Amino acid sequence: MDEYNNLVDIDYKYLKKIREFIKIFKKELSHCNSNILKENLKTLKIIKRRPLRDGKDIIYASYEALNNVIYIFRGKYIFHELLHMATTVKNKDNIIHIGFACVDLNRKIKIGARINEGYTMLLTNRYFNNFLKSYKYYQIETHFMYMLEIILERNTLEKLYFEADFDRLIDLLLKYNSYENIKSFVFDMDKIYKKENDGVIKNINNFLIETYISKLSIYLESGIIDAIGLENNILKFIDDLCMIKINGKNNLQYIDLDNIEMKINLLNQKYIKRKK
Ligand SMILES: [Zn+2]
Repeated sequence: MDEYNNLVDIDYKYLKKIREFIKIFKKELSHCNSNILKENLKTLKIIKRRPLRDGKDIIYASYEALNNVIYIFRGKYIFHELLHMATTVKNKDNIIHIGFACVDLNRKIKIGARINEGYTMLLTNRYFNNFLKSYKYYQIETHFMYMLEIILERNTLEKLYFEADFDRLIDLLLKYNSYENIKSFVFDMDKIYKKENDGVIKNINNFLIETYISKLSIYLESGIIDAIGLENNILKFIDDLCMIKINGKNNLQYIDLDNIEMKINLLNQKYIKRKK
């Protein structure tokens, strides 16, 4: 293992964490591309910094994509930031891809920030969570990205993430939903913590359920599942979607069950007609 030979200036305690990160990556994420990780490790800097206050939140660690620097207060927060490092690519048109987020430096716009944070947190928890039992940032985004992963499948989404391939993510979703709806979903994820967010949460739930139903309807058409299978899968999906509380309420409050029932009925009618 010679990936960290270049890291001469990095403090020993962080170096130990980087080694651990690489070890876990090789063991658990061998299906993912490690080129970005290897490339960025050559120039990575880690700087100790006091926590910053951002409104009500305290930021213990952050990653500066432009200069490949991790600012950190305590070592235990490092894995999340290393994931950002392992998924950051700058391309020639002045666009930085960070996992599922894109920053256009010319036009000074960023898209996909929260889908990226949610997925980064999901992977932090899944593979690197030994020390972070009480790390509760981005919980809602993490849960929604977990649900998206059920639709698009874990290996696929993990691969796309480590290739920082936002475009392929959109292409995959286009198999099951419209460009307009996908765009709204990405932007709605950024608005989760805004006040009066009921509409936003409803839209996200609706997007996820619709996308899943659309995928299952393809399975139904091709005989992979039958009508009962379809309904069971959707009910399980909604059950999982409601494992989170939002604004102190069960997420079920933000799901339009009548609309879903109508959609399932329509699908079943279509299916039964075709079988006759
Ligand atoms: Zn982050």
